[in-house]
Amino acid sequence: MNSNQILEHFKQTDALLEGHFILSSGLHSPNYLQCALALQYPVDAAKFGSAIAEHYTNEKIKTVASPAIGGLTIGYAVAQALNVRFIWAERENGAMTLRRGFSVKENERILVVEDVITTGGSTRECIEALEKHGAKVVGAASIIDRSNGAADVGVPRISLVSLEVPSYKPEDCPLCERGGDAVKPGSRK
Ligand SMILES: [Zn+2]
Repeated sequence: MNSNQILEHFKQTDALLEGHFILSSGLHSPNYLQCALALQYPVDAAKFGSAIAEHYTNEKIKTVASPAIGGLTIGYAVAQALNVRFIWAERENGAMTLRRGFSVKENERILVVEDVITTGGSTRECIEALEKHGAKVVGAASIIDRSNGAADVGVPRISLVSLEVPSYKPEDCPLCERGGDAVKPGSRK
């Protein structure tokens, strides 16, 4: 899958909307991204999983780990493609933690997978949680990179698509200036 095919799939599944949106941050944007919609069908998730897994066939990955919730579907798909174990980290009292009895071995080679990287925050926290238990995180991957390559998670990182989603303060929004009303995603008809 090349990046155009991936973006086309995102548009067809409404995972990538074009228009004039109010983001949860209150900022306005001509795009809205909801990766979960692109992964609803396991056959689609499997394609993205294989596309990411291809980059790691020679890395002797023992486990794929994802930060919950965003990374769960794609992480599972990558683990399936690599035929390795899948675990996740989730927040407990605000901190990314391994729960549910998940454990890792000393120097276990782990790939961390997310759906979208924006600042890299949750990937970085997931890596820290794994390293605290002695794991060796050998890489991080996402379907979409919204950081324009800038997110530094401390390990080598790949993404299938780099996507710039501009956002504006309402008072500086060029779409508002043109007179259009911004809508909250999901409220459009
Ligand atoms: Zn606006």
